[in-house]
Amino acid sequence: MFVSDNLGINSDGNLTVGGVDTVKLAEKYGTPLYVMDEQVIRNSLRQFHDSMNQYYSGNGEVHFASKAFSCMEMCRIVADEGDGLDVVSIGELYTAYKAGFPMGKVGFHGNNKTNEELRLAIEYGVGHIIVDNISELHRLEAIAAEMNAVPHIMFRIKPGIDAHTHDFVKTGQIDSKFGFALETGEAFEAVKEAVNCKNVKLYGLHCHIGSQIFDIAPFEEAAKVMLGFISEIKNKLGFEIEGLNLGGGFGIKYTGKDDPSPFETYIKRVSAVVKSECDRLGIKLPKMFIEPGRSIAGPAGITLYTVGARKEIPNIRTYVSVDGGMADNPRYILYGSEYDAIVANKASEERSEKVTIAGKCCESGDLIGENMPLQHAESGDIIAVCATGAYNYSMSSNYNRLQKPAVVFVNNGQSRIVVKRETLDDIIKKDI
Ligand SMILES: *Cc1c(COP(=O)(O)O)cnc(C)c1O
Repeated sequence: MFVSDNLGINSDGNLTVGGVDTVKLAEKYGTPLYVMDEQVIRNSLRQFHDSMNQYYSGNGEVHFASKAFSCMEMCRIVADEGDGLDVVSIGELYTAYKAGFPMGKVGFHGNNKTNEELRLAIEYGVGHIIVDNISELHRLEAIAAEMNAVPHIMFRIKPGIDAHTHDFVKTGQIDSKFGFALETGEAFEAVKEAVNCKNVKLYGLHCHIGSQIFDIAPFEEAAKVMLGFISEIKNKLGFEIEGLNLGGGFGIKYTGKDDPSPFETYIKRVSAVVKSECDRLGIKLPKMFIEPGRSIAGPAGITLYTVGARKEIPNIRTYVSVDGGMADNPRYILYGSEYDAIVANKASEERSEKVTIAGKCCESGDLIGENMPLQHAESGDIIAVCATGAYNYSMSSNYNRLQKPAVVFVNNGQSRIVVKRETLDDIIKKDI
């Protein structure tokens, strides 16, 4: 009935998340409100690392991709589960550091890192820096020499895999701003240089082929291409790569149309490919890293809104306007993403109409979705939009000078604030 198993209906006919009444959450904390189910986050992390233990002899690390949802409490939960983090900016790095995250389990990404970011990553002792391009390698080496450090690095490689997903979230093909190309020899030249660098230690190779990918085959293909390259490096340079980072990108269920494979299946199949390729090529099994973001945070979250205006345009459409929109969820305006929505205080009623849910920003494109099956929604009702845990809060803005919503975690029937709602004074705080 719902896209996530953690949603239900209680005896008042209200939607529940992790057993907690969403209408009561809206009353208590106000709307718009991001609500995350802590158990869903923990279970998803466990599914990934348990499968790595089962199918890859535990020779792996799961790094949650912060960019999907980053705040200090999230870092603490990931740390508590014994997993690692992928960070992509000084802000995500600082968040992890301030949350007391074990920095040895952090991978630092980015296609255009600043010197300040590189310095801080070395100072904090991150596990590895994923170097994106040759000028970064040169800058990093100089900075590391200055700091008397030898950071471990991975190279980000474009494996040339075409994953079937939206163009904006495809990253593994040759025309991408991320990483070194294999076909042109660029990646090999970089490896050759890094092997002789005194102030960096080449530890591994990384690839990330895209996001919201349902097929497992592109991940298997990417693994094969990467292992082929590892073998080439061994044969030509006598150098053994120790770590293979296969990135994230596992798809989740946003609507009934989506049918993702269990995370376990990805890990099982990719592990099998890695093992057989290593055998075939005569190379040692690398330590495997994966970086799921959306698949950890996405299904855990819902967003609650209060309905304001309802506008019926005969023979055209009905707009149901809510007190948030593209400022807290820009995914429709960016990608035309689809979501499932429920009138939380009428959750047991039939979804009798199809409406356009509109936000309150001054943009016609500011929609949560079109043609959404919904219970009859009227002013004052609470609407829950599902699977908003990833790339919503982390992509939110203050457009139209809207305040960013609070983030609440639910667990064991309890709720707690983990990010406070912005105040009006927060809005003008940096104005002179
Ligand atoms: C975005 C990104 C991820 C996470 O992708 P998801 O689709 O959220 O799983 C992992 N690694 C890198 C390098 C990324 O850029």
